[in-house]
Amino acid sequence: MLVVGAGPTGLTVAILLAQRGIPVVVVERHAEPYPLPRAVHLDDEGHRILQWAGVAEGFSAISRPALGLRIVDARLRTLAEFRRDSPVGVHGWPQANMFDQPALDALLRDRLAALPHAELRTRTELVDLAHRNALLKDEKGGYKQAASAILACDGAHSTVRRLIGATSTDLGYTEQWLVVDASGCGGPAHWPGVHQVSDPRRAATFMQIGDDRFRWEFRLLPGETADAPDLGTLLAPWTGGAALTIRRRAAYTFRARIADRWRHGRVFLLGDAAHETPPFIGQGLGAGLRDAANLAWKLELVLTGRAGDALLDTYERERRRPALRLIQAARLLGAAMTGGQDRAAAVRRSVLAAACRVPGFTAAGLRGIAPLVGPSALRPRGSRAPIGRCLPQPRVRHRGREMLLDDVLGTGFAVITSQEGRARRWADELGARIVDPAEIEDDSGTLRRWAPPGRTLVIRPDRLIVSARHRF
Ligand SMILES: Cc1cc2nc3c(=O)[nH]c(=O)nc-3n(C[C@H](O)[C@H](O)[C@H](O)COP(=O)(O)OP(=O)(O)OC[C@H]3O[C@@H](n4cnc5c(N)ncnc54)[C@H](O)[C@@H]3O)c2cc1C
Repeated sequence: MLVVGAGPTGLTVAILLAQRGIPVVVVERHAEPYPLPRAVHLDDEGHRILQWAGVAEGFSAISRPALGLRIVDARLRTLAEFRRDSPVGVHGWPQANMFDQPALDALLRDRLAALPHAELRTRTELVDLAHRNALLKDEKGGYKQAASAILACDGAHSTVRRLIGATSTDLGYTEQWLVVDASGCGGPAHWPGVHQVSDPRRAATFMQIGDDRFRWEFRLLPGETADAPDLGTLLAPWTGGAALTIRRRAAYTFRARIADRWRHGRVFLLGDAAHETPPFIGQGLGAGLRDAANLAWKLELVLTGRAGDALLDTYERERRRPALRLIQAARLLGAAMTGGQDRAAAVRRSVLAAACRVPGFTAAGLRGIAPLVGPSALRPRGSRAPIGRCLPQPRVRHRGREMLLDDVLGTGFAVITSQEGRARRWADELGARIVDPAEIEDDSGTLRRWAPPGRTLVIRPDRLIVSARHRF
């Protein structure tokens, strides 16, 4: 298996595959993780995927939960505020986690290095492709590499996407923003959540990433570059003129785009190579992790001869729709929070402000726009059955030990049933772990709601429910 690109998507899918015993080579054109400011927010489902990759505790150590979102006007007066009702979400981790992307990339690199089936080749670039044969180039020159499959995790300017003749559809959003990471002086005095500045002249975002790490994003005006405008002037309302250390500063073009096809034979597009979203709801990296979680176990089943090739078609079928919804939601929320100066924009902002005052609105909205899979053959539209839904992850006690539910279920398929004898043949075919709910103490009552007595649940490795039946 060849993974192109050692960003968060490529590293995560490589880890998930290597953990399943599939040999993986990751090629990355740069020696070190990309140093410029990028993702700072990951939700609880993303954190759960990192748990499957074996780095959940490591991620907790480099991240901090965020309090919520405050929308402020140009003079930083609060227009609307929503707080997270409970810090821990249904996936068992804080609903919003602030972090520094290079730190996450480094954590994932360390994890990959510890796996026997994985190899990372840095300063190595994919330059050409013919079916499953890649032409790679490193410091010594070019060489060919055959692979059972090629996973293009090579970012927004994907070489592989171009080489397979896929195109990226522009979904109608392009803006230039200045992104600044800073530290020092203990930072500005502020409310410890994300601030969205709804100023039609210069939209901006501010958030605290770490104990002494801060991120500002400012929309650039036509003709401005990363070096102008004057940073001191932009930061003054926040810092009161106190000196800060600027750690990184970069201009980005935020775009909304989606690739027209994500698969060509055994070549697959994942992460920013498949979809690109403006970062207003902090979901771009998370979407790449969801791609990785969706595809890894399917590849394992197909490559080990336990499933037919058609299973791989379900990757794009399940992931395209949620990715598209996510991009559209980011565009709409971005426009509502930062839109122009006309009357309609004022109305939009006040509606948004009102909506944000309804407890849980934004959290519920975000849960709805970023699911692992959309309505599909697995979960028909409007279906109330648990099939196709993601099993929540409560903290439980199993055989006297405190743990998270996924650690009880294992990394493959799982069957939750009190009828082990009847489920055995099924479970063996899937290579599934059988778990008796009677052995799990769950004070939250979650398991009892999802797997009441007599119901057998079959769970995919990405924790989607594929079968819920009362009898065999
Ligand atoms: C300012 C900003 C703020 C953001 N904020 C958030 C946020 O808060 N939350 C969030 O979820 N997302 C956010 N994002 C988006 C997030 O950073 C991206 O979605 C994420 O980095 C995508 O990961 P990836 O692994 O798919 O691609 P990338 O991180 O771009 O990694 C691709 C890798 O492939 C390598 N590569 C490319 N071509 C080749 C080749 N031919 N051969 C070998 N290697 C190659 C590159 O060097 C790179 O390392 C933000 C982005 C920006 C710019």
